[in-house]
Amino acid sequence: MVIGGLQKFSLVDYPGKTCAIIFTRGCNFRCRYCHNPELVIPEQYTLEIPLKVVFDFLETRRGKLDAVEITGGEPTQHADLIGVISQIKDMGFLVKLDSNGSRPEVLKTAIDQKLVDYLAMDVKAPLKDYVKIMGWQVPAEKLQQSISLIMNSGIDYEFRTTIVKSLTSKDDLREIAKTIKGAKRYFLQKFIPAKLVDSSCNNEVSYSDRELQELAQELMRYVVFCGVR
Ligand code: SF4
Repeated sequence: MVIGGLQKFSLVDYPGKTCAIIFTRGCNFRCRYCHNPELVIPEQYTLEIPLKVVFDFLETRRGKLDAVEITGGEPTQHADLIGVISQIKDMGFLVKLDSNGSRPEVLKTAIDQKLVDYLAMDVKAPLKDYVKIMGWQVPAEKLQQSISLIMNSGIDYEFRTTIVKSLTSKDDLREIAKTIKGAKRYFLQKFIPAKLVDSSCNNEVSYSDRELQELAQELMRYVVFCGVR
């Protein structure tokens, strides 16, 4: 696994738990609004953090932090992900895994081996419309498999959508909510301009706070909870 970032403490990334965050480098997606170009675009990669440095740090946090979140980039791209998660679990941490859902077979292994305690999957658009977000179409059946696996996993999970107004219509959000019908948690994430994979996206906006709150209320007709971040 190639690690491009380590955040040593967070109170907000694992619901109700303190955690450290490992950022894996490399992603098979190119979402225009992605905030982590240094983890996604090879020319922008920054220094790699050796796994040993990460594990040495985690050793000092045993009993002090509840959990470790593994995010990216796309963690499921790394062949040794399952082994790394096993080591983290053996140290006594809860594990949250973030994924774009493109590799359901890896999620299945993690779930079957009881290696994850919380799964978070981005649902970026109606499953047949990913081309709008990143310029090509991901196999919709893979995304659907990941959604089904997560919803039937018996562990805690959330789905989330980052919302750029020109890329994600209100009808798109209704369709996504229908796709994850019955889900425990769905978050609408307000797009905020920053250093992005596609710098032309910096001129884009999201919906207003009020519109997002109204949408979240409406979408609770499909999911158990819908919130705004
Ligand atoms: S938002 Fe996530 S899935 Fe999309 S390019 Fe960035 S890291 Fe990859």
